[in-house]
Amino acid sequence: MQNLTTTMSNSTRCAACKSLRRRCSQDCVLAPYFPANNPQRFACVHRIYGASNVTKILEKLPVESRSDAADCMTFEASSRIQDPVYGSTQTIFKLQQQIVQTQYEIAKVQAELAMHNAQQQMHQIQQQQDHQNQNHLLGQSSLMNVNSAASEQEEEFHYLDQQQLGGFYH
Ligand SMILES: [Zn+2]
Repeated sequence: MQNLTTTMSNSTRCAACKSLRRRCSQDCVLAPYFPANNPQRFACVHRIYGASNVTKILEKLPVESRSDAADCMTFEASSRIQDPVYGSTQTIFKLQQQIVQTQYEIAKVQAELAMHNAQQQMHQIQQQQDHQNQNHLLGQSSLMNVNSAASEQEEEFHYLDQQQLGGFYH
């Protein structure tokens, strides 16, 4: 019977208690954040912070913040194991560089877009001006036609006058 209980408690122990070879109590602070199916997660934080420090940090926090804190400690610890000198700052630095690069590219694309829009507006204004000029020229030529027609008529009248006057005088 005792063997069965031990087996049961062993199978339900969290990764931390399993690693520390202790009984996992109902109110184990680490159990919700370090499940048995992911022993690597606890191994990381234990190696960098130590199990008692992780427990103390989580105990001091309100329950709703503990999950984020556990995730954060896991990230910090695994980064420190991967890169003992810079740890997570290396990842943060790389991401900041990517942000700067992306912001530069956004600014470049926005500048190109502004340039393209300005060129398009210039083109439209030019087209409108060309159209207006064409209309103006057409207007002028039709005016010229009207004027020439009028002057022809005037000449005719003048000729008639002379004939009539000539007839009158003769
Ligand atoms: Zn536990």
